[in-house]
Amino acid sequence: TQLLCKAGDRGSDCAPLVPPPLPQASLEELAQALTRKEFVPYFQPKVAMQTGHLKGVEALVRWNHPERGLLAPAHFIDTLEGHPLMADFTIDMVQQVLERILDWQSHGLPPLTVSVNLSADNLADRSFIDRLIAQISASGVKPASLVWEVTETSVMRQLSQALTNMGRLRLMGFGLAMDDFGIGYSSMQQFARCPFTELKIDRAFVNGAAQWPNRHMVLKSALDLGQSLGVATVAEGVETVEDWKLLRDLGCDMAQGYLLAKPMPAEDLVGWIRQDRR
Ligand code: C2E
Ligand code: CA
Ligand code: CA
Ligand code: CA
Repeated sequence: TQLLCKAGDRGSDCAPLVPPPLPQASLEELAQALTRKEFVPYFQPKVAMQTGHLKGVEALVRWNHPERGLLAPAHFIDTLEGHPLMADFTIDMVQQVLERILDWQSHGLPPLTVSVNLSADNLADRSFIDRLIAQISASGVKPASLVWEVTETSVMRQLSQALTNMGRLRLMGFGLAMDDFGIGYSSMQQFARCPFTELKIDRAFVNGAAQWPNRHMVLKSALDLGQSLGVATVAEGVETVEDWKLLRDLGCDMAQGYLLAKPMPAEDLVGWIRQDRR
């Protein structure tokens, strides 16, 4: 039971999915950047499609490079994968996210859930999960304020450890999202074994969907799967009103994408929210 498309599938239903890799920063540079606190989270809103209300934000890392300016994760995230630095990197991101959550609370904003991406290494690493749980307990931020985003590829790489760790996180009350849904190899059976609270449909299926009627059925079946498992569905990469309307009419719960807002620095989010509510 293959869902949607295989990675690398270039059929007419599927946009090209894997762009060529960018030149990567070296590990030494990344270790130094971490020490110098050059990694910062940007935040992208996620809204309910029926009401337009803000439901949460996703934290997306940017490297504030002293010479090259703001760098997207495509320039460096692959280098961190498979290296112990990835654990420290994620802990640093989470720490900044926790500080922002407390800061937004003090601005009197309604409680926001923040989604944070975990790497395959993170997800399979028991001692990392221990650190993460201790860190959040110490912060006083409620687990329900955080959603961990993991891809099916990460889950499948070390399935039994990933399942154990996902179970621990869910039991503590954290949300758990399957990211990039549709581009990997998971079967419905495997998906159903994971305690997800949210299913994020990959941008490759969302972007331009209104122009491709033959994609509507795969979108619909992904949304139906989410619904039948009782998890919230999120469309990633919504850029046009046409795609927004299509996804909403197909029953998608939430949307994230440039149509609403690009990822922005934490300082801008409070203003964006206030403007949005006017
Ligand atoms: P992702 O988790 O699938 O994040 C969504 C990506 O789509 C983000 O790219 C976001 O900026 C982009 N995006 C959102 N809306 C739109 C849209 O309407 N159109 C288009 N074209 N793009 C849109 P970004 O920020 O460059 O991040 C790329 C990937 O890097 C993320 O994909 C995630 O896999 C990884 N990543 C980002 N931050 C972290 C992090 O803190 N930790 C880890 N492990 N991975 C991260
Ligand atoms: Ca994500
Ligand atoms: Ca995604
Ligand atoms: Ca992605």
